[in-house]
Amino acid sequence: MSNISLLPQVRGFLQREHSSFIDGRQQPADNPHYLEVIDPASDQVISRVAEACVHTVDDAVASSRRGFAQWSQAAPAVRASVLLKLADLIEQHREELAQLETCQSGKLINISRNFEVDQAAHFLRYYAGWATKLSGQTLTPSLPSFNGERYTAFTLREPVGVVVGIVPWNFSTMIALWKLGSALVTGCSIIIKPSEFTPLTILRIAELAIDAGLPAGALNVVTGGGMAGKALIEHPGTDKVSFTGSVPTGLAVGQSAMAANLTRTTLELGGKNAAGFLRDVALSKAVDGIIEAGFLHSGQICAAAERFYVHRSQIEAVTGALSERLAKLKIGSPLDETSEFGPVSNKQHQARLGALFAKARSENSQIIHGGRLLEGPGCYVEPTVILANSVNDSLLNEETFGPVATFLPYDDEEQLIALMNDSPYGLSASLWTNDLSKALRLVPQVQAGTVWVNMHTLLDPAVPFGGVKASGIGREFGGAFIEDYTELKSVMIRY
Ligand code: NAD
Repeated sequence: MSNISLLPQVRGFLQREHSSFIDGRQQPADNPHYLEVIDPASDQVISRVAEACVHTVDDAVASSRRGFAQWSQAAPAVRASVLLKLADLIEQHREELAQLETCQSGKLINISRNFEVDQAAHFLRYYAGWATKLSGQTLTPSLPSFNGERYTAFTLREPVGVVVGIVPWNFSTMIALWKLGSALVTGCSIIIKPSEFTPLTILRIAELAIDAGLPAGALNVVTGGGMAGKALIEHPGTDKVSFTGSVPTGLAVGQSAMAANLTRTTLELGGKNAAGFLRDVALSKAVDGIIEAGFLHSGQICAAAERFYVHRSQIEAVTGALSERLAKLKIGSPLDETSEFGPVSNKQHQARLGALFAKARSENSQIIHGGRLLEGPGCYVEPTVILANSVNDSLLNEETFGPVATFLPYDDEEQLIALMNDSPYGLSASLWTNDLSKALRLVPQVQAGTVWVNMHTLLDPAVPFGGVKASGIGREFGGAFIEDYTELKSVMIRY
């Protein structure tokens, strides 16, 4: 098989020179610096995007303040219908958006279609449903009454204001839409700062949002790297930061936001997620589970598992069968619909994985399968299986964010839970067993924001998601996101 043909509108979009989207359109670049968007399957520059300077950030914030003044007054049903219309338009442009996403990130085209577009539209519709369901409470104060006066009280949920949504490169379309959906449905305006590696799809979605009826300024997109992100966070005109990315950047973002104006911040960070397989799981089910948990989108998913714990009596069989399965994967171009395993998303990431493989070798971790970068062009890395010597091996502690599963045997369930919890992070974890009673007893002992049983990685808009320990602050999805995007105002009345 060969690559699918790019749609004419995708070729046209790639050929345009892009810049920040402010007040309903891309503004002429006021900075001679351009980011090059590079296709990780070919190493070719496919597009150029102007890097926002301080003036661009000022313009974006001023526009978002105007956008907030207008959008926050829109009736809830209007907010819902605009988001629903946007979800429809995203689906109507499914192939265009999926191709753009694959060109900028190297994601297999079917993952772009099914997750970055279809699932993202599904999330957007879920958020749209909340517009008409936001509510406060009626309360009965207990203040004493001396002259017959009485009291009543109620709470209002009010939008927090101008949100800065900072997005990583791994699911650049879907994560931007999570933030956009949360902000717009609660009546906030939002400035999305996409990753410097993957700015294209959200620029196209911003155009579709205007077509869907969103007022100019309710959604702006500022293109650039960390400096643009920092300038937005520290800007006195922004009210909240919703950040998704790595732990070190998240720490810097949290500190900047606090120091700037005590700006409210939610942090969705990475980690080193664990999957524990109990002894009753059949070999083939364990291998399927490890592939789901660790290798979807080459492991470049924040919730993916990287630490795998298997009973000592089974670890050789499991790692052997897994290696056989991985050896059969068809590695190839992400635009070829028959490819099963594509490149990682950028050269820096590929080089970082190479350095981690070298570290594993230097520590005598046992590389059972893979462990090499593939010759160019493109950012290809072998899917990799590693057996650690002890809890101290680097690959059991450092996030790879790649297709790398590191194993350690355990002897009993108490030790399994201790090993799973032996991490400063706690975004997600999974337990695999046929014994539901045992699973339900173990779940409360696992330190993670999400614990899956017999599944891993799959997120649903109705189920809150976020980290414990150093994996973050706050929750996305479910009703939980409302806490982070609204302020609770209390009203007391004497009568
Ligand atoms: P990153 O932290 O390098 O960058 C994330 C974003 O922050 C980018 O847009 C970047 O330009 C911006 N940024 C960088 N420095 C900044 C600064 N000082 N101030 C403001 N913004 C700044 O992360 P990445 O490499 O793009 O993504 C991979 C990481 O993201 C992994 O660690 C992964 O686990 C994590 N992640 C977490 C989740 C989650 O929901 N918990 C989801 C996806 C990815």
